[in-house]
Amino acid sequence: MHGLLAWLAVSNDIKEVLRNIFGGGVYKVLIIGTGFGGISAAIGLIKQRITDFVMLERRAFMGGTWMQNRYPGAQVDVQSPLYSLVDEPEPWTQMFAEQPELEAYTNRVIDKYGLREKAILQANVVRLKWQDADCFWRVECADGRHFDAQSVICAQGPLSQPVVPDFAGRDSFAGQSFHTNDWPQDFDHRGKRVAIIGSGASAAQVIPAIAADVAELHVFQRTPHWVLPRPDRIFSPLTRHLMGVRLFYNIIRRSIYWGLEWRIFAFKYWHGLLRFFAERPARKHLREKVSDPFLRGQLTPDYMIGCKRIIVSNNLYPALDRDNVTLHDKNDAIKSITPKGITTIKGTELELDTIIYATGFDATDNNLGFTIEGREGHRLKDFWRAYPRAYMGTCVPGFPNLFLVMGPNTGIGHTSAIFIIESQMQYIMRALRELHQKKGQTLFIEVTEEAEQAYTENIHQQMQKTVWHSGGCNSWYKHKSGRVIAMYPGFSFYFRWLAKRFKKHHHRIVRTHS
Ligand code: NAP
Repeated sequence: MHGLLAWLAVSNDIKEVLRNIFGGGVYKVLIIGTGFGGISAAIGLIKQRITDFVMLERRAFMGGTWMQNRYPGAQVDVQSPLYSLVDEPEPWTQMFAEQPELEAYTNRVIDKYGLREKAILQANVVRLKWQDADCFWRVECADGRHFDAQSVICAQGPLSQPVVPDFAGRDSFAGQSFHTNDWPQDFDHRGKRVAIIGSGASAAQVIPAIAADVAELHVFQRTPHWVLPRPDRIFSPLTRHLMGVRLFYNIIRRSIYWGLEWRIFAFKYWHGLLRFFAERPARKHLREKVSDPFLRGQLTPDYMIGCKRIIVSNNLYPALDRDNVTLHDKNDAIKSITPKGITTIKGTELELDTIIYATGFDATDNNLGFTIEGREGHRLKDFWRAYPRAYMGTCVPGFPNLFLVMGPNTGIGHTSAIFIIESQMQYIMRALRELHQKKGQTLFIEVTEEAEQAYTENIHQQMQKTVWHSGGCNSWYKHKSGRVIAMYPGFSFYFRWLAKRFKKHHHRIVRTHS
């Protein structure tokens, strides 16, 4: 591996020198985003000996989610040996790694593959336009720069567009306010009067991390979430040592994978399993951790568990039970934000130093963050007018050589998102092999309309049976059309199987000139 990386580094340097002398040129592949999706794509390319690629990153640093979400308490909610890249095992210190360890892991992988040299930072993509005559993508950035590439892999992340709702008077607040996704690193919460808006996975981690040190904490919960205990554990030195042995690591990984995979039965086929194995322990957890019956009532959801992402936490309920913490439910919701704080619909006026928006992300309606114009000027926005859709969540007819990582219906509620990303990579790399198989020819590859339509129809037919569709809640999984767009309604191993068995007849491969 080291020999290959050294060779790649030299060949990259030569190409970059030539590019600098002779001007831009067309990259073979351009990757948007440098989180796990972008990193995984870059590793896939390197393994295929495709070195002529560039990574664009809108931020001043690489790494995506775990570099950006640096709020106190940030921690992954999928077991780390599974929430990691298949070829990059790590001797994790605990089952559910915390943000600093995830950040270190991400940096280690970036450095190992020499990806910093491939990345252009602060390149905020605003538009992709397919050049019909020359068959390449022109990728335009907000600062006027542009990059050309034969293929583009969009890995900007499904949860990277934070939403700050437009509350009346929002911008009049005189104190400090920010979204959990943009947590100021110099912010000192100690002794402050703080409101946190939202009760999803991000709020559930921030609340216990700051509750003991703030003067007052006002939690605005529109909808309660189901909460299960977090089966976390610190790994012993022996286990960590054994995790360095590939065979042992793989055994842990596979055990976790199969231990989680059966849960799709409950999410999709048999909701009775959800009630027995999830709702029952969640109710018990609530009973045991919250002594006040009124608070317990406020915290009890009225929809089926699993419909929204289940929170796993041992310390959320005890934090909400504290004397300096007040839970404002939908009956005491925000009426307006004032220069001094928040006025609720009951007429309570709260004086605050800080408002934290834990109000989530746009994962379905406008989550690309840039416009895409494909063949003959067709816009992706128009193709997605009814709802976002893509073959394997990756390819869209009319948009050649374009691959979406974690595109429509690729989210996963029961296992690791990285498993899905790596499955998509198998499909994308296979498509790129088709594209590059004959030297001297420019080709483009595009999924056919029929294949995409059949795939998407099946996805939404399967979705009808899931708790995400029929569990009686509203969630970020749903598009404004009412369709569940964020989730994959099936076994993750089946998605992997589909991704590996590339169906050539589902694609149009066009030779333009030789
Ligand atoms: P989220 O689950 O979408 O939660 C957003 C919260 O803000 C919800 O409680 C929502 O209420 C509330 N909200 C939104 N708009 C509002 C409005 N106008 N008025 C009042 N309340 C409003 O977002 P998130 O907590 O950032 O989590 C998003 C996803 O990120 C998670 O589901 C998970 O997949 C991922 N995540 C993972 C981890 C982890 O691995 N540990 C940590 C954080 C996040 P409603 O419920 O009523 O809509």
